[in-house]
Amino acid sequence: MAVPTPTTETRWRCTLCGNLTRFDVTRSSKVVEYVHLDLAGAANVEEQDVLSENIESVRCRWCNTVDEVELVDRPGAGG
Ligand SMILES: [Zn+2]
Repeated sequence: MAVPTPTTETRWRCTLCGNLTRFDVTRSSKVVEYVHLDLAGAANVEEQDVLSENIESVRCRWCNTVDEVELVDRPGAGG
């Protein structure tokens, strides 16, 4: 089952327990990083450019159900 993507007006809600705030999100992404190494060889990522991003699964932290989320309106969005 595909996970719906929240927008500026919607948020996730667990369809089983009603949790709105705590989820474990498994995400795959393709990212270009500008890695800046110091003279000792320690790396520091100074810029990130996300080329693509895909949410693979969402697990509810309250009831541990996977991919049982729906989109509901955020408070104050669209009345
Ligand atoms: Zn839940």
